[in-house]
Amino acid sequence: MTVPTPGAMAVTTSPQASAAALDKALRSQRSEVYPHQVWYLVGSFIALVALFHWVSWVATQLSKKSRLPRGRATAHAQDVEAGAQPTKPTQFSVRRLPLALVNLYRVVAFRCTLQIGSSYTLNLAEVFLTCAYIVALFTWNFINTTDVYGGKLDISYWANRAGSIATSQFPLVTVLGTKNNVLSYITGISYDKLNYIHRMTARVTFVLLWVHAGAKLSTATSAEFGEWWARAGLAGMIAFSVLILVSLRPIRARAYELFFFTHFMMVLIFLIGGWYHANQFQMGYYMWPCFVIWALDRVIRVARVLIFNHLYFLFSPKSSSLDASIELLSPECVRLRMERPSHFRWRAGQTAYLIMPGVSSTPFEAHPFTIASICDAPGKTPIVSDSEKQVVKHTEGWNELVFLINVRGGFTKRLAEAANLDQKAKVLVDGPYGFTPDLDNDDTVVLVSGGSGVSFTLATFSDTVNRVRDGRSKCRRVVFIWSIRDPSQMEWISTALGDALEAAPPELDVSVMVHITSRPGGTSGRPRSVSPMSMISMIEFPSVQVVGGRPDFQVLLKEEAETTSGRMSVTVCGSQAIARACRAALKFPTSSPASVTKGGPDVVLHVESFGYA
Ligand SMILES: Cc1cc2nc3c(=O)[nH]c(=O)nc-3n(C[C@H](O)[C@H](O)[C@H](O)COP(=O)(O)OP(=O)(O)OC[C@H]3O[C@@H](n4cnc5c(N)ncnc54)[C@H](O)[C@@H]3O)c2cc1C
Repeated sequence: MTVPTPGAMAVTTSPQASAAALDKALRSQRSEVYPHQVWYLVGSFIALVALFHWVSWVATQLSKKSRLPRGRATAHAQDVEAGAQPTKPTQFSVRRLPLALVNLYRVVAFRCTLQIGSSYTLNLAEVFLTCAYIVALFTWNFINTTDVYGGKLDISYWANRAGSIATSQFPLVTVLGTKNNVLSYITGISYDKLNYIHRMTARVTFVLLWVHAGAKLSTATSAEFGEWWARAGLAGMIAFSVLILVSLRPIRARAYELFFFTHFMMVLIFLIGGWYHANQFQMGYYMWPCFVIWALDRVIRVARVLIFNHLYFLFSPKSSSLDASIELLSPECVRLRMERPSHFRWRAGQTAYLIMPGVSSTPFEAHPFTIASICDAPGKTPIVSDSEKQVVKHTEGWNELVFLINVRGGFTKRLAEAANLDQKAKVLVDGPYGFTPDLDNDDTVVLVSGGSGVSFTLATFSDTVNRVRDGRSKCRRVVFIWSIRDPSQMEWISTALGDALEAAPPELDVSVMVHITSRPGGTSGRPRSVSPMSMISMIEFPSVQVVGGRPDFQVLLKEEAETTSGRMSVTVCGSQAIARACRAALKFPTSSPASVTKGGPDVVLHVESFGYA
């Protein structure tokens, strides 16, 4: 056979040599092209999710514009006061079929779950995504691996390809693990929810990298082992293995700081080793963007900390105004309050990272907490109705950051100890983070929380009241369900909740249910101080009920769905058990396509969790 060369000289090669050349060309070409194809799939999926997000955003904005005029909302409130039930059509309507299908999708994708152990729950959307990702990566890795001689599953075809496909995924894995990530902005999914996909993609690529490394270790010559790029790759793999081990949930949950620092160090070793290794094969362009993405996230975080806390860094005499007051409200709850740093604005339910050098054991320790207060421009006059404008007392925390912090074993325990000293503490704030649900279009807003999860629902409740009052929300009924172990815990929010209740406009139908779950005498064996004052101040409001025992979500949510027409949202922030109970309650028949086609409510469930770590 004659093969033309660049020098125009024809070189005659044997059929075996040309078959070997073709074999090599084929596997190299596939190793290069298949990672691109995986990216087309991943990119198309992200684009699809982003498209759904933006279409739904536009639909929400348009629907806000066609909101009920205030007069009709008031008329509804009068009907409710008169005891009238909203009338709902009970006839099947074909026009509601698309909405019924959307509800069916929500129930199947997000409310049907797979329980792994006692504390790990995956919804079907997550299960599907995980399976699809595994199938995609492994299919691309093992298809077309028959060599030119007819040998099936030729190792030289899939071994290197496994390395290149896995390497190609690292920019994605890195983006998903950052707090300030572009995917969050284009898909509207909070960074903490994307963290599941970060871990999942990292683990799948880890297995694929070991497929590559295992195959190479079994076939490499000792000369190849001596090469620096092989050693760099191996060092990277060892670091990645340690990283995967410490990121397992039991270790993460028990020793977060160990996980955090090991993660940092191992990622660094892995990326440097991985870059040297991949660059040897002209694939460094998949690795260096990881450094850029990571550095960008850090730069944004540092910039935020510097901007929001500049008084500290400029050693300004006014810096003491940023110091936070910390109070131990009960043995299990600390309230931290600080003046809103200038320029710091947030939406109800968003999170901020707190860095407290005097409390933390390490300088880079930052803990996320939900801001329990809402942000309002100072001096803004809330409006009660179009005709009559009156100043309403500002809700507690209007212009300050308030956090309700559950006392756990590390940083929060030290914070509780510091609270006992009754001194102010220096706090650096980084945030706000997270995308919170837009409830403006919901006719009924149900907020469910347990314990310190109330920081999310309290802020959302105050914000909903505020937005209804300003005519920004069409909500007509808001239900606030809070489960606590002990009546004394009502003190955590009694003032803020009372202020929000006072500020609620008459057209808003409000129901607050506080469930005390411990039996009289307490269940923990620890003496608890009952606080009759906070209880009395809360039950003074006719809309507040304090009841014993756990809430029966099947009954409560079914009742709400039966009396709601239009859109009903249920936002949950609490333990896994509460989230599970709400998911179960909002399956069929409470939220079924059949009920939607007959005029039943369009039900949306938002589950917020404090435990992504
Ligand atoms: C988005 C978000 C919002 C949150 N909002 C609140 C809130 O409003 N109120 C509240 O009480 N708690 C909230 N948490 C939980 C809170 O961050 C942790 O309980 C706290 O960091 C525990 O600190 P520790 O050192 O005392 O914990 P440890 O006793 O050491 O561990 C307890 C648990 O907290 C996790 N954890 C520890 N450190 C961190 C960290 N830096 N980042 C994330 N998780 C960590 C551990 O993995 C473990 O599961 C929130 C968590 C997240 C992710």
